[in-house]
Amino acid sequence: MNTTRRKLVIANWKMHLNTSQASLLLHRLHERIKIHRDIEVVLAPSMLVLQPLSMQIDRRKFRLAAQNAFYKDEGAFTGEVSFTMLRDLVHYVIIGHSERRIHFHESYEEIAQKVAAAVRNGITPVLCVGETQEERHNGETKQVLHDQITTALSHLTAAEVEQVVIAYEPVWAISTFGGELAKPDDIQRQFEFIRHQIAELYTKKASKAVRVLYGGSVDDQLAGGYLQIPGCDGVLVGSASLNYHKFSGIIDAAYRVQNSAKE
Ligand code: PEP
Repeated sequence: MNTTRRKLVIANWKMHLNTSQASLLLHRLHERIKIHRDIEVVLAPSMLVLQPLSMQIDRRKFRLAAQNAFYKDEGAFTGEVSFTMLRDLVHYVIIGHSERRIHFHESYEEIAQKVAAAVRNGITPVLCVGETQEERHNGETKQVLHDQITTALSHLTAAEVEQVVIAYEPVWAISTFGGELAKPDDIQRQFEFIRHQIAELYTKKASKAVRVLYGGSVDDQLAGGYLQIPGCDGVLVGSASLNYHKFSGIIDAAYRVQNSAKE
């Protein structure tokens, strides 16, 4: 497996932290975290906090992500923020998170439009995919991953797919949806399936280039184990990213794993 892909650690702060709380957490992370060229640390605060955080952030240590955006570039869409508006502010946008699929009923086509809009605006999409507990019990995991990936990437060329990040997040493993711990062997199987899908649909080059992350109750104790799964390019972290001890422990783990892979 290609070990030259930098490890990517993304903090999804969800609908937590107002501007001053986010600024304080960033300040504490900044003090604790060193500049690591071999890993990439990305913070995804709420939409409201992106702009003030962008003024405070040390770009040698952190990048920013949005948690969502709307796929039209401009227009009469009350309450929405477009990818175009975010393009100078963020490197990444999380798309298709299970909370958006479940609570906001985002459809496959809407997610595909968002992925295309992100790419069109020079923002890297972090596409979240993963099966629910029910789908898992019905033996539908591979079908769900196949459907989610095929539709979400359907507007992209192979060269564009190379830039995409895919986060495998089984819904049952996300802390707020149950938080059952996924087994490394199972995660590795799904990673292989995801890359296989990309190779089948696009090119082998794209399947090697695409970064695949794991997400689901990752904390500082578990991160090292997940990051060592073959083919794992990083982690998407929810609740543990709100705790600076835990989140900086996850970054330390990513750094250790990345360095040991280089030796
Ligand atoms: C998530 O919501 O993307 C996530 C992985 O959450 P948690 O780490 O809290 O399970």
